[in-house]
Amino acid sequence: MNSIALKSFVGLRQVSPEKTQFTGQAKVITIRHRKLKIVAGKYSPLVSGRNLRVAVIGGGPAGGSAAETLAKGGIETYLIERKLDNAKPCGGAIPLCMVGEFDLPLDIIDRRVTKMKMISPSNVAVDIGQTLKPHEYIGMVRREVLDSYLRDRAKENGATIINGLFLKMDIPKDKNSPYVLHFSSYDGKTGGVGEKRTLEVDAVIGADGANSRVAKSINAGDYEYAIAFQERIKIPDDKMVYYEDLAEMYVGDDVSPDFYGWVFPKCDHVAVGTGTVTHKGDIKKFQLATRNRAKDKILGGKIIRVEAHPIPEHPRPRRLSGRVALVGDAAGYVTKCSGEGIYFAAKSGRMCAEAIVEGSENGKKMVNEDDLRKYLKKWDQTYWPTYKVLDVLQKVFYRSNPAREAFVEMCADEYVQKMTFDSYLYKTVAPGNPLEDLKLAVNTIGSLVRANALRREMDKLNV
Ligand SMILES: Cc1cc2nc3c(=O)[nH]c(=O)nc-3n(C[C@H](O)[C@H](O)[C@H](O)COP(=O)(O)OP(=O)(O)OC[C@H]3O[C@@H](n4cnc5c(N)ncnc54)[C@H](O)[C@@H]3O)c2cc1C
Repeated sequence: MNSIALKSFVGLRQVSPEKTQFTGQAKVITIRHRKLKIVAGKYSPLVSGRNLRVAVIGGGPAGGSAAETLAKGGIETYLIERKLDNAKPCGGAIPLCMVGEFDLPLDIIDRRVTKMKMISPSNVAVDIGQTLKPHEYIGMVRREVLDSYLRDRAKENGATIINGLFLKMDIPKDKNSPYVLHFSSYDGKTGGVGEKRTLEVDAVIGADGANSRVAKSINAGDYEYAIAFQERIKIPDDKMVYYEDLAEMYVGDDVSPDFYGWVFPKCDHVAVGTGTVTHKGDIKKFQLATRNRAKDKILGGKIIRVEAHPIPEHPRPRRLSGRVALVGDAAGYVTKCSGEGIYFAAKSGRMCAEAIVEGSENGKKMVNEDDLRKYLKKWDQTYWPTYKVLDVLQKVFYRSNPAREAFVEMCADEYVQKMTFDSYLYKTVAPGNPLEDLKLAVNTIGSLVRANALRREMDKLNV
């Protein structure tokens, strides 16, 4: 029998150090059925004299969105971010649906990409994006702009933003006691090392990215990761015209054995990058190859920033423990194939915060693990198919140059473009048309066979 049920059963009212009390209804249910399982949140103790306190660690898209939703939902919200002017290494491509769903102002979007060139190992370029409707585009943002916008909005809605480095947390022994967070605060202007502080909260959202300390604190386990490398290159104005509304993706063994290289346009520069899981030690070689492939178009460019960061490959073995949940990269929500994580970070932060707001009845009650688990359930139900489809695509099409040639050839098909863009822009696995699907399957096999035959001929010629 757990302690809440036991105390309710014998008719005791528990007054914890935080003056929590149990609802009478919970007691009746427990006595009548002698059941130990307490339904999520419903019979949780009230928090009195204050609202539920939640800390969000990390102020990227996951943290900013989580904090905004919590604050709007009546939660006493703290967001701890180590670097308020952080420029997260990132391509910054976001799907159209994010602009609407997160009510993003258009002036934080540097470029609206309506044309995408997919470029094969043998430099065959296919234009995709021809099926886009006039209002459809891929947004290109600089992360320093997007992240601070989302954090500021959380603050406007009542969240307290703390400029600090989260260090560790003390996990409570008793189920309603607070988590004690330890962090170095930079708010007090005490110099580079900051000032050691603590904060007591009832629940924690770990939105602190791929190297999450929150994940370590709850023994969430590790995930496989890719290392991504990116250079921001300022190119001459006349070259920038080419990239005005156009992005490029390069595939081939030279640019990455298992990912793709990219050139994404930003306000006054382009971001050129690549990534790999399997050959991390060769990342600079792949970066050079990506730059070489684009060399004519970026000629005369000056590298203004070099950045690298891990990208998770799959969710962590554990994303939740007690009243601590992981979201965004901390949880491992980046899709294979596209390496996309911004939207999923913001969405998971929001979804987790909604579960807390709901479970706590707008901050009036303590939450428990079951309340937070609702977020995981909803997340997996909503996005599992998207992750699976992209995982399969990566396995089929990124494994060799012939497969990549076939992939690029396939991208010329309008049906493929429409399916791909609809799925990307609106974050649903677009339902297909059976006849077109069949044609696509036949064409794909044809492309793969042709590409393999081409490789055999090239091997014979030793080129
Ligand atoms: C090179 C590269 C290119 C990419 N390109 C794209 C792209 O074009 N489109 C796309 O959708 N995705 C892209 N991604 C993936 C995307 O960047 C991530 O999925 C996304 O940033 C995840 O957001 P997040 O909020 O979970 O974590 P992050 O953005 O990593 O934010 C974590 C925040 O936590 C803070 N933090 C970390 N530790 C602590 C601590 N101990 N205390 C306090 N604060 C802390 C950090 O400063 C940071 O602000 C790319 C990734 C890389 C590396």
